[in-house]
Amino acid sequence: MAKILCVLYDDPISGYPSTYPRAGLPIIKNYPGGQTLPTPHKIDFLPGTLLGSTSGELGLREFLESLGHTLIVTSDKEGEHSAFDQELPDADIVISQPFWPAYLNAERLSKAKKLKLAITAGIGSDHVDLNSALEKGITVAEITYCNSISVAEFIVMLIVTQIKNYLASHSWVENKGWNIADCASRSYDLEGMQVGSVAAGRIGLATLRRLKPFDVKLHYTERHRLSPEIEAELNLTYHPNIRSMLKICDVVTINCPLDGETEHLFNDETLEVMKNGAYLINTARGKVCDRDAIVRALERGKLAGYAGDVWFPQPPSADHPWRTMPHQGMTPHIAGTSLPAQARYAAGVREILECFFNGRAIRDEYLILKEGKLAGTGAHSYRLRRSQEAA
Ligand code: NAD
Repeated sequence: MAKILCVLYDDPISGYPSTYPRAGLPIIKNYPGGQTLPTPHKIDFLPGTLLGSTSGELGLREFLESLGHTLIVTSDKEGEHSAFDQELPDADIVISQPFWPAYLNAERLSKAKKLKLAITAGIGSDHVDLNSALEKGITVAEITYCNSISVAEFIVMLIVTQIKNYLASHSWVENKGWNIADCASRSYDLEGMQVGSVAAGRIGLATLRRLKPFDVKLHYTERHRLSPEIEAELNLTYHPNIRSMLKICDVVTINCPLDGETEHLFNDETLEVMKNGAYLINTARGKVCDRDAIVRALERGKLAGYAGDVWFPQPPSADHPWRTMPHQGMTPHIAGTSLPAQARYAAGVREILECFFNGRAIRDEYLILKEGKLAGTGAHSYRLRRSQEAA
């Protein structure tokens, strides 16, 4: 029988919800491009409930215990005395969400002697040291597409709120003020701007599609160039390298995975290439940007704004400079954990576990690592570096 160690974020401060603002969820039948939604044999949870926090347990307990497996759920993941570290040595499967990542670095992986499968309940498996996992033959899988549209919508929101100076304007109202000039002196329109995406995978492309009706000029850079049909449909300009795109864009959205090649892709030097007064939106991973270079770029007005939901580490310390830097629109890591996204990734985790226990193949598009090499989406989207460390 297997031991499954599941690391989830804490319940709300007010306790696990007994009611929700809306009843049910819209029915989504297919992902763009024809990929099907998760297809578990059964689910034991109500879609629309909070599944990603410790009491939600991703809706897995009944299923796993009915098969005789042991499920441990904890949010305690930092330091060698954490529940995660204590339970890890004899865990067969680890499940972790990128929002509250259980960093499976080389040291932890060396202690996880029984670990066979690391499931990312979401998308983005950079919290696992992929080089070490690869050497140990651990399968790494994530729930591709589960929250791509959730994130694309979030990115559009961040772009518009930054350009319109929404957050600062809202603060004037909350503080009983009405100072229109303060709000308007940093407020612009998106119409007519040059907008570029670093990567046009599932999130990047969905974001570009959603931006088209704003009458902007769209750009992208990608390792895998899109088809001529998609480029024509969106009137996209392809840039073989990031620099030519950064030079002309008013808004840049980052949608590549964090890997050995993209860590600190945005540093003092690349930020300098950007247009003065550009906006940078990062919902990919905190480490794609050099933390202090972003602060400097905002302070000297190189960037007009920076917004996103991803940090390093997560959770960040109380004095992390991104909490207080000027003209930022940061949130906790939430873009991909809306209630509909949770329902999809909880179902996807169940699908992967059913495959694993029944000896069936996990879908190729869910795979990052398998049998000692990059596989599926991992082979398409990730590059490894020998020295890559998850934490
Ligand atoms: P995806 O695998 O569909 O697409 C990633 C794309 O990035 C691929 O097409 C790949 O070719 C491209 N790419 C990789 N490195 C590149 C580089 N250096 N330059 C240009 N293109 C590059 O992944 P996705 O579903 O679109 O997700 C992308 C990333 O977004 C994830 O890896 C994750 O880090 C992040 N994410 C964040 C949230 C959130 O809640 N904020 C949720 C989901 C995913």
